[in-house]
Amino acid sequence: MIVAIDGPAGSGKSTVARLLAERLQIRYLDTGAMYRAIALAVVQSSFDENDVDAVTGIAQSVRIEFRKDDIYLNGTNVTNEIRSANVTAVASVVAANPYVRTRLVELQQQIATLGDLVTEGRDQGTVVFPQADHKFFVTASLLTRARRRHQEMVAGGSTLPLQTVKSQLRQRDHRDENREYAPMKPASDAQVIDTSDMSIGEVVNTLTQRIRPES
Ligand code: C5P
Repeated sequence: MIVAIDGPAGSGKSTVARLLAERLQIRYLDTGAMYRAIALAVVQSSFDENDVDAVTGIAQSVRIEFRKDDIYLNGTNVTNEIRSANVTAVASVVAANPYVRTRLVELQQQIATLGDLVTEGRDQGTVVFPQADHKFFVTASLLTRARRRHQEMVAGGSTLPLQTVKSQLRQRDHRDENREYAPMKPASDAQVIDTSDMSIGEVVNTLTQRIRPES
C-alpha cells in the first residue's frame, strides 16, 4: 500500500505522515529531506544553486541514504544540518532542476519496492506514485502555516519575526507551485484536507478513518 501525502510547508504534513505511518505500522518517507540533502551538497560546494549544470553534476555524484529516521549524505548524518534556513531556501531552487527530480524520483520509487509506505512531499500523488492507494493534499492558510513554523523556530531559539517567516513561506510556495517540472498541486484524485482549524491528532484520525474506515 502506498499513501501519498502532498502539501505546502507548514501544513503539518510531515508530522501527520510520520504519525500515520506509526499508526498503520508501515514505513515513512520524507522526500523533502532528499531535496534538502542535495541542497546541502550544493551549499557545501562553491557553486551557485542556479547553476543548472553544476547542480546536475552534484546530484549525479552524491549518495543519499536513510538509516532509521536519519538521512545521510555521502556517509555523513546530515539530519539536523538540512533544516537550516539557508538549506531550506536553496532546496526549493534545486528542486526545480529536472535532473535532480529524475534522480530523486527513481530513488523514491526504489524505496517503495521494499514495502508499504506513507510518503510525503510535493509530487508524490501526481508524479512519483500516480497509482498510490490513497492520496491526500494537506494544506492550511498561509497565516496559519507561518504561525506554526514561527512557533517551531522560536522554540529552537530563532528571533525571526512572524512577517519574515510568512514572506519566506510565500516565496517557497510560489517557487514550488510555478516550476515547470512536477509543480506542487493536488492530484486530481487526491482528498484535500485543510488543517487550519484541526489539531495534528484530528488530522491523523481523519486520514486513518479514510484509509481504514472499519477501524
Ligand atoms: O517538505 P520540505 O519543506 O522539507 O521540502 C523542502 C523543499 O524540497 C520544498 O520547498 C520543495 O521545493 C522541495 N520538494 C519537492 N518535492 C518533494 C519534496 C520536497 O520539490 N517531493
